[in-house]
Amino acid sequence: MRTNYADDFPLLKNSTENGKRLVYLDNAATTQKPTQVIDAVRNYYEQYNANPHRGAYPLSEKATEAYEAARGKVAAFIGAGSPEEIVFTKGTTESLNLIAGSYGMDIVQEGDEILISIAEHHSNLIPWQAVAKAKSAKLRYLYTDANGKLTTEEIAAKITTRTRIVAVAQVSNVLGIVNPIEEIVKRAHEAGAIVVLDAAQGIPHMPVDVQALDVDFLAFSGHKLYAPMGIGVLYAKKEHLRNMHPLLLGGGMVDDVSEQTAAYTDGPGKFEGGTQHVEGAVGLHSALDYLENIGYEQIGRIEHELTGYALARLHSIPHVTIYGQESGYGRTGVISFNIDGAHPHDVSTILSADGVAIRSGHHCAHPLMRYMGVNATCRASLCFYNTKDDIDVLIGSIWKVREVLKLGAE
Ligand code: PMP
Repeated sequence: MRTNYADDFPLLKNSTENGKRLVYLDNAATTQKPTQVIDAVRNYYEQYNANPHRGAYPLSEKATEAYEAARGKVAAFIGAGSPEEIVFTKGTTESLNLIAGSYGMDIVQEGDEILISIAEHHSNLIPWQAVAKAKSAKLRYLYTDANGKLTTEEIAAKITTRTRIVAVAQVSNVLGIVNPIEEIVKRAHEAGAIVVLDAAQGIPHMPVDVQALDVDFLAFSGHKLYAPMGIGVLYAKKEHLRNMHPLLLGGGMVDDVSEQTAAYTDGPGKFEGGTQHVEGAVGLHSALDYLENIGYEQIGRIEHELTGYALARLHSIPHVTIYGQESGYGRTGVISFNIDGAHPHDVSTILSADGVAIRSGHHCAHPLMRYMGVNATCRASLCFYNTKDDIDVLIGSIWKVREVLKLGAE
């Protein structure tokens, strides 16, 4: 069984950072792209670039076919009932804004509650603040336990008959913790609330079946899934999409326009005003083919082993605090940590001298940082193309940090 996939990614093969081999551990921010995806995008521009849905000539028909084939691929990949439930967006942020602006603004009423978790990315937080404010509703939070988990008690206590919307991440972009989505969905539906799932950090690592999960909405970004930037997905149950109003008004989303009125088209096109990111959809299609070919089982196996290895090695370094659960179970390879006395930005700068790319900062999760009592963390995030060698370089570099900062290594 193949275990080394870095060769599929030209950037990983060829790049150096500060004269060292690039050790790319910022996969939660964005992933590198395999040759297959890069070729698919190049082929699109070399062979069938045209504005889809507009021209009656063969080239435009080919572009339309490719765009709609990508929609079909996404639908099948996430187990949607039909491609009609898939809207292409710019990414998770746009998808979540569309849900909040187009659905939330219509159904939330004064006194209702919107429930999110304290570990949400700002993209699944600020849009709900806006809805709550506009509608005089209450934005409530699910708080995590000391290991970063959402407990059954917390879920049971916070989802009530006043809850209209529960919006949570499948996996935290700071702690890598996998949330108990089945339990949240069950509770929410029992209480008459709908569920929005931010799958940005989940779908790159584990299969997602929207019908099995029974989520009402789901959002993810192509670029975190080996596809190009600027393409994302909003899945919505058909009955929700049918009732939602479009946010972007203009070309391509109407059936008929008169001087004073416009009849919007049915289906996902209603939310895709303007010329769409066909290149991105084609690249996403190819990325999903690529992932399917490897299989989530294999991806999970590699990532689980690497995560366990990285956590164990990190754990053995003095002065290192790991946030959230320290075992490799129930989590992905997103690992947040700090080193006593060292600012995360200094840590990432020192690591980059060894070619190691990690993220430092608040990770677009200010409320979680405050809740954890920190200003910032270092975040190493791995995926299946990383290797134990990458982790060894990371660990070797972390060992140097306190020495470089003259804090004393032990
Ligand atoms: N939600 C989560 C959990 C994320 O990790 C991110 C990206 N860091 C987003 C939403 C926003 O994704 P994008 O920037 O691609 O819109």
